[in-house]
Amino acid sequence: MNPGPMLAPYAASDETSRGRQYPESPPSYRSEFQRDRDRIVHCAAFRRLEYKTQVFVNHEGDLFRTRLTHSMEVAQIGRSIARAMNLNEDLTEAITLAHDLGHTPFGHSGQDALNACMREFGGFEHNLQSLRVVDLLEEKYAGFPGLNLTFETREGILKHCSAKTAAQLGELGRRFVEKKQPGLEAQVANVADEIAYNNHDVDDGLRSGLITMTQLADLELFGEQYRQVSSQHPGLSGRVQVHEIVRRMINRLVVDLIENSTRLLTESAVSSIEDVRGAAGPLIMSSESVRRQSRELKQFLREHLYAHYRVRRMTLKAHKVIESLFAAFMDDPRLLPPQYQSKSVADDGAAPVSVRARIVADYIAGMTDRYAIQEHQRLFDPAALT
Ligand code: MG
Repeated sequence: MNPGPMLAPYAASDETSRGRQYPESPPSYRSEFQRDRDRIVHCAAFRRLEYKTQVFVNHEGDLFRTRLTHSMEVAQIGRSIARAMNLNEDLTEAITLAHDLGHTPFGHSGQDALNACMREFGGFEHNLQSLRVVDLLEEKYAGFPGLNLTFETREGILKHCSAKTAAQLGELGRRFVEKKQPGLEAQVANVADEIAYNNHDVDDGLRSGLITMTQLADLELFGEQYRQVSSQHPGLSGRVQVHEIVRRMINRLVVDLIENSTRLLTESAVSSIEDVRGAAGPLIMSSESVRRQSRELKQFLREHLYAHYRVRRMTLKAHKVIESLFAAFMDDPRLLPPQYQSKSVADDGAAPVSVRARIVADYIAGMTDRYAIQEHQRLFDPAALT
C-alpha cells in the first residue's frame, strides 16, 4: 500500500523493502511499515516505557517526561519532518516509537550500571537491546520470535554498534562494517530524538528548578527565542513563557533541518534508497550554524542539568540498585522468576555463565524504575514482602 501520494524516489517503500526475517503475506489496508508501527504499539516493552526515567526518576513528579512521552514527542517531530520531505511517515513513526524500547530503568545511569555489570559478558548497550526486544524478547506471535519487523525498521533502531557486534548481526550489521548510511527515515528518527530531548530537557530542567531562565538566556538558541517572546509578549512569565520559547526552539530546529536536508538531497542527486545508503555521509542534517547552537545547548545541559548534584544522587542510587540485583541473580539464578530461571538453568545443570548474565541483563533491562526499586526491596529489605 502506498502510504502517501507523493513519496520521494529515495524514500523507503513497501516495493523496495528488504522484507521481514520470517516471510509473511502482505497486510490488508495497511502498509508494511504501518504494520511494524502497530506491532510496536501493542508490545509489552512499549507499555513499560511509561514507567521508565528519561532524566528524572519516574516517581519524582508526574509532570516530567518519561520514556513513553519522550518517544511520542520524537514520533511527532519525526513525522512532521518525514511528511514535509515526502519520506515514509509510517516507517519514521515505527522507528521513533521503538528507538528506546531497550532502555534500562533509571535512564542513562541505569544503562551505565548494567554495562559495567556486563563488562566481562559482552557489555550492555541500549540500542542493541532495543533490537533484541523487537527481534527476540517479545513473545507474542505463534510463527516467529519477537515482532518480525521489516529490515528498514530494524535498520533504524540499530543507530550505532561496534564493529565486533556488527560482524555478528549479519545483513543488518553490514553497514557499520562497510561504513554506509541507513535510509533517510532512520536518519530523520535520529535527529528527531536529539531535537526532542534537548528541548524537553530544557523544559523539565526549568520545571524542576535545577536550571534557570537567566542561565539559558545566555545561550544562542534559547536566547534568540527568549528575546523574540519577550518583545512579542512583554510581561509574560511562568510556564506559558517557557512553552512559548521551547515551541519556537523546536520549530527553528525542525524548519532548519528540513531546509538544509532538502538542499543536501538536491546537491547529492540521490534517486533511490540505495543511493542514500551509499552516500558519503548523512543527508539529514541541520545547517552548520544550528549544529553549533545545538552543541552549545547540549554542553550546557551536560554541565548544569545531567551533572547536577540532585541528578547525581539519583545516579548513585540507580547504580546501587542495578549492581546489587545483578550480583544476586548471578549468584543464585533460582531467585529469578520462573520464566527467566528456565532459560538460565539448562536441564543438566547451570547454563554457561555468559548466557546467564545475558538473561539477567534482559530481566533487569526490562524493569521499570518502580519495579526495580520494589525488586530490590523484596530481595534485600528483611521487612519487605517477597
Ligand atoms: Mg531517545
